[in-house]
Parts: sequence; C-alpha cells; structure tokens
Amino acid sequence: MPDALVCGAGGFIGSHLVRRLKREGFWVRGVDLKFPEFAPTEADDFVQGDLRDQDFCRLVVDRGFAEVYQLAADMGGAGFVFTGEHDADILHNSATINLNMLDACRRRRVKRIFYSSSACMYPAYNQEDPENPLCSEASAYPAAPDSEYGWEKLFSERLYLAFARNYGMEVRVARYHNIFGPEGTWKGGREKAPAALCRKIAEAPDGGEIEVWGDGQQTRSFLYIDECLEASIRLMRSDFPGPVNVGSEEMIRINDLAQMIARAAGKKIAIRHIPGPLGVRGRNSDNRLIREKLGWAPSQPLEKGIALTYAWISEQVARDRGGKRPAA
Ligand code: NAD
Repeated sequence: MPDALVCGAGGFIGSHLVRRLKREGFWVRGVDLKFPEFAPTEADDFVQGDLRDQDFCRLVVDRGFAEVYQLAADMGGAGFVFTGEHDADILHNSATINLNMLDACRRRRVKRIFYSSSACMYPAYNQEDPENPLCSEASAYPAAPDSEYGWEKLFSERLYLAFARNYGMEVRVARYHNIFGPEGTWKGGREKAPAALCRKIAEAPDGGEIEVWGDGQQTRSFLYIDECLEASIRLMRSDFPGPVNVGSEEMIRINDLAQMIARAAGKKIAIRHIPGPLGVRGRNSDNRLIREKLGWAPSQPLEKGIALTYAWISEQVARDRGGKRPAA
C-alpha cells in the first residue's frame, strides 16, 4: 500500500486531500496543530503538533514516504494577510515549517514532496488593471509581491527548487489561485472572499444588504476544491516540477461574485461598499502551462462550486443561529 504524509491535514485543502488519498488506497498520516474542524479526519494516523519544531518534523517523517504534501502555513484571507498585523508570524512560521520539512524529507529520502505556493507571489505591478492581470509563470520576476505572505511563498518555492537541484530531491510546486469549497474557514477573520460573501448573504434577509470591501470592481478567479485536488495529484505524479498555476481562468468582479452567490441563495441582495484590506486590483490564473504539461483544465463552471459552497455555509450559519456548534 503506498503511503503519504499530509502536512496541514487539519486545514481546508489538507483535510480534503487526506480524504482523496484514502479513496485512492493510500495509507495516510496527517499532521497539523489542530484536527479538522468540520468533519473527523480520515487519516490512518493523525499527529497533532507544531511543524516549526525541527524534532517534531523528524519524528513525523519517520520513513521514505511515497508522497509528502506540504500544505501547512500560517495563512488566511485578505483580512489576515493584508492588514500588516501578522507579517512577522506569516514570514517566520511558514518559512520555518518549509525549512524543517525539507531537511526532514531529505534525511529520510522521501520520494516526492509537493509544495503549495500561491498566486500572491506574482508582482503587484502586473495586477493593476482589473481587466488584464498578468499571471503567467514566467512573469514572476523581477519579484514584487504585494504582501509578506507572497514573499514567503516565493522564498519557499526557491527553497524547494534548490533542494531539488542540490540534493536530487523530487519536488513539485503549485501556485494555487483562490481555492474554495465546503469545509473551509467561513468566519473568524481568516476566511476568504467566497466564504465571507456566502456567510454574509446567508445571514442577510431576502432584500437585505451586505458589506463588500472596496468598490467591488476588483477581479479574481476561484477554483473549486475538487478541481484543485485533481490538478495537485496530477502534478505530483507527473515529471514536471513546476512552478505551475493551479487555478481557474473564469475571472469575475467581486460585485458579480456576490450576485452569483445571491442567485444561489435565491435572495435579492444590495451591496454597500466599505473600506477594507484589498490586495491587488486584478488577478486571474493563466492556465497555458498546466494545459500543455498536464493536459488539465477545470471541469466545471464557477457557479456550480459556488452553489455547493453556499449550501454548506448556509447550513453552518443556521446551526450557529440555533445555538448549536457545527458538527465535529
Ligand atoms: P488552512 O489555513 O485551512 O490550512 C493550513 C493548515 O496549516 C492549518 O490547519 C494550520 O493549523 C496548519 N498549520 C499552520 N501552522 C502550523 C504549524 N506550525 N504546525 C502544524 N500545522 C500548522 O489553509 P488552506 O486553504 O488549506 O491552504 C493550504 C495551503 O495552500 C497553504 O500553504 C496555503 O498558503 C496554500 N494556498 C491556499 C490558497 C487558498 O485559496 N486556500 C491559495 C493559495 C495558496
């Protein structure tokens, strides 16, 4: 039975990935500071601990795993990443995790290690026009990410590629663009735009109003979790190391995303624009490279994933209102 290690297995993408690897017949060890919040983990072995601790990393990498997925990071949406209040932790914590994990994997001769970078590493100067953002892989340099989160991702990408060059390790680097879906953070300050908008709309009455940060004209693209897992696994098992974009090319303005969610909810919703942390003006995935190398493209439109996500979040909101805690 092949074995896999998932770091960040208590988080959104990690917990879904564990489920997918179990379905494929893997023996899976999950590692995280916390257990998944919304459903029990399906990992065969789940180790709770801190990957900033080098000894802990060496303990959990106790064999030459066939596949290691390093998803653990200190992260959140715009409200967490762009305020500046968490910059030191974001840089220190995530870089330490990556330094430790690469060292531990090299010692155990792990066969392959996957790293989840982010579209936030792309230069801000290419993303000022909401209609024409440039996010091709080759546009990464000269580097100028708009957040420390993006700088850490860029540093760690380079770290993984350097370990591949100098120690012959097999690394795979994906640049995720806004992954969303059920069982993701939907409140508390670390949630991202789709989840935050779903929550606000679920809480609003029909004909009500929600707040949107900025003028809502900023553009983004969003990729549904199942599509992200498919692309990640394909990349892991391919001969292509990356870095490569894993995202959707269906670019949408935040105002239009809010209206798409309102349609899924069957509600009429007005938008009130308020100041807030924003990030770049426009961003879209450029999928030319991943199409060429892996033959991969998203299989469903944004609207479908949004409907599934809204249904899940409105259920959480209803549970909260009923005074009950979300199912553990
Ligand atoms: P998440 O926050 O839900 O998951 C990250 C997990 O890492 C959390 O469960 C957290 O507890 C864990 N973690 C943090 N510090 C740790 C530590 N010191 N030791 C052990 N575990 C620790 O985030 P996610 O959305 O599942 O993202 C997974 C990865 O993908 C991250 O590296 C993130 O930067 C990257 N990414 C995500 C997106 C997205 O849209 N979700 C976009 C780009 C990149």
